[in-house]
Amino acid sequence: MTLLADNITTEATEHLRLVDTHAAHNYSPLPVVLASAKGPWATDVDGRRYLDCLSGYSAVSFGHGNEEILAAARAQLERVTLTSRAFGHDQLGPFCAELAELVGKQMVLPMNTGAEAVETGIKVARKWGYEVKGVPDNQASIVVAAHNFHGRTTTVISFSDDEEARAGFGPYTPGFRAVPFGDAEALAAAIDETTVAVLLEPIQGEAGVILPPPGYLARVRELCDANNVLFIADEVQSGLARTGTTLACEHYGVVPDMYLLGKALGGGVMPVSAVVADPEVFQALRPGQHGSTFGGNPLACAVGRAVVGLLATGEYQRRARELGAHLEQGLRSLAGRGVTDVRCIGLWAGVDIDPALGSGREVCERLLAHGVLAKDTHGQTLRLGPPLVIQRDEVELAVAALGSALGELAGGK
Ligand SMILES: *Cc1c(COP(=O)(O)O)cnc(C)c1O
Repeated sequence: MTLLADNITTEATEHLRLVDTHAAHNYSPLPVVLASAKGPWATDVDGRRYLDCLSGYSAVSFGHGNEEILAAARAQLERVTLTSRAFGHDQLGPFCAELAELVGKQMVLPMNTGAEAVETGIKVARKWGYEVKGVPDNQASIVVAAHNFHGRTTTVISFSDDEEARAGFGPYTPGFRAVPFGDAEALAAAIDETTVAVLLEPIQGEAGVILPPPGYLARVRELCDANNVLFIADEVQSGLARTGTTLACEHYGVVPDMYLLGKALGGGVMPVSAVVADPEVFQALRPGQHGSTFGGNPLACAVGRAVVGLLATGEYQRRARELGAHLEQGLRSLAGRGVTDVRCIGLWAGVDIDPALGSGREVCERLLAHGVLAKDTHGQTLRLGPPLVIQRDEVELAVAALGSALGELAGGK
């Protein structure tokens, strides 16, 4: 908190005071008060500019105020924004068809937040398990990975092993078994006749951008096939071009039975999430058994269609690959200067900070002073995920700022 305190203005101080007094303390944000943003840049109430290297955990992947997305949203705002699913509307069919085609499946179940997509995936898999696979009532099990992050609802934190996210919120939803991420044999051992699904992030985001070991996801696919188990890929953060492909699973040549999408799907405008799968997976689900007042609303569908349209060109995937390679090269050049490990895929990086230098949070505070917004995860890891509209020189600016931040911490400044 100290870095900006010197030149923080009365206006910013007043905003921080209001938040501290009137917003519940379920976050500890960096001391910055943003007022506007465009592309990869955000501006605070005092006119200072920051390069956004978090992009709302991938929710703003297409950049702040993306003109194509805004145009679609504006046009839809003037037509109709909410009908509820009790009635049809002219954006739902095209959105579902276009998203399904992009992903290579047939059907879409639209929801709002990522956690709701996960909850929906769990419900769909359980229903499928009872009615199609023939699992005895209330016996369904789902195998998940250790150190997963799938959201914040009561059921989802029930299978988290992050004590901060979980402790004090019990009793927990049963029916989940966790195995180490990357250990196919442990996964094989956890599957039995009650298992309806394996739920994984193909690349673990919040855990620190943890890539799966070679062959792991292909082995998961084989195990699911051999045991008549659904493979659910939570691509809420990894999907929609972040890693350089439309879906992170593509890097590993695997096709899961169900994709969970969110974050970037809302174009940085509003929450839009979806479960995408083929009809066999949804076959046990009938009207009245699941839903959402806001899920699949006209405005969300119009925004989602604009996002799918951007992705269909392949341009953002290409940018993520090319600029991601540049980012990785820059980050690797910091090895030995306070960086102990770099994991990078597309424009998504986990950077481990030497604890001797300081915490991830301290690095983020220094970065803020250098005009770069980033977020730590699990103490020592810095997670970078800039908007995919970032330019080459801006990538270099972020890397240089990190170099300076690390230098200051090493120098004890
Ligand atoms: C962010 C995230 C979620 C939860 O999404 P919300 O929109 O915050 O509910 C679920 N899964 C993964 C992999 C995520 O990164």
